[in-house]
Amino acid sequence: MKKLLVAAAAVLTIVTSAAAQDYPSRPVVMVVPFAAGGPTDVVARILAEGMRASLGQPVLIENVTGAAGSIAVGRVARSAPDGYTLSIGHWSTHVVNGAIYKLPYDLLTDLAPVSLLVSNPQLIVANPKLPATDLKSLVEWIKSNPDKVSAGTAGAGSASHIGGIYFQNFSHTSFLFVPYRGTGPAMQDLISGQIQIMIDQSSNSLPQVRNKLIKAFAVTSKARLAVAPDIPTVDEAGMPGFYISVWHGLWVPKDTPKPIIAKLAAAVRAAFADPATRKRFLDLGQEIPPVEQQTPEALGAYQKAEIEKWWPLIKAAHIKVE
Ligand code: ASP
Repeated sequence: MKKLLVAAAAVLTIVTSAAAQDYPSRPVVMVVPFAAGGPTDVVARILAEGMRASLGQPVLIENVTGAAGSIAVGRVARSAPDGYTLSIGHWSTHVVNGAIYKLPYDLLTDLAPVSLLVSNPQLIVANPKLPATDLKSLVEWIKSNPDKVSAGTAGAGSASHIGGIYFQNFSHTSFLFVPYRGTGPAMQDLISGQIQIMIDQSSNSLPQVRNKLIKAFAVTSKARLAVAPDIPTVDEAGMPGFYISVWHGLWVPKDTPKPIIAKLAAAVRAAFADPATRKRFLDLGQEIPPVEQQTPEALGAYQKAEIEKWWPLIKAAHIKVE
């Protein structure tokens, strides 16, 4: 019996490594946890294109929205661990959500990290018709018009929602949050004036700021964005220390064979090494991690450290899930 088991295990190893060697032999699906056209979707599409040459197969995008991205992440956590279903997400989907939702999966043990991806700060943005001309006058205007202000978010616990809560805490203001399936659709309503403000990832807002469809008051980082040097930092604009950086990552279901994870990580590195792909990310205010951090280990360690840092803070904020 024991001999039989050993033989079966050996056959399984051969089959698995053969599958890993042939991988990928068909298109790979990257599950985006927010609406098309939003910041995560844009990062996913640029990355997917960049990974294609090295994988020799297309990487298709599937948008699965709802519950601030947790529906999508759950879908990947339950998928076959064969490298054909990837979970792209960021600080809120793969860290924050664990502190506010009762997730039917474990963020650290049901997924295996592939690589740390790009990160970007947020911009404090508003509909251009708002009378405020700088961050201080925006805060004053919100204080005197609390009933007229609503902020768009990508759902309870999304980066835009947490950014909004911190904004309220820093500025002692209160306003309504309006949840969307991503800040892509929220942006449409910001432009048309259905909602007034948003604390949004720079990659989503910058193109609209450049086209003067919305206005930006500050960037939530210590330094100005190289690609948008006119936008002051929160320190300069009067909200010192209001820093948020939204970092992205790529995961696969746990038990995905190591050689497959290595192939995916190599495809990410190849994408980040390509000058045209780099430029597309940099133009959106996205920062590319140094090459030594483009690894499964770096993402695993960072995600764990971020969970330890943020969960107590988020739990203390008692965020309600709509
Ligand atoms: N990442 C979300 C999106 O793509 C936005 C957010 O988390 O605020 O829509």
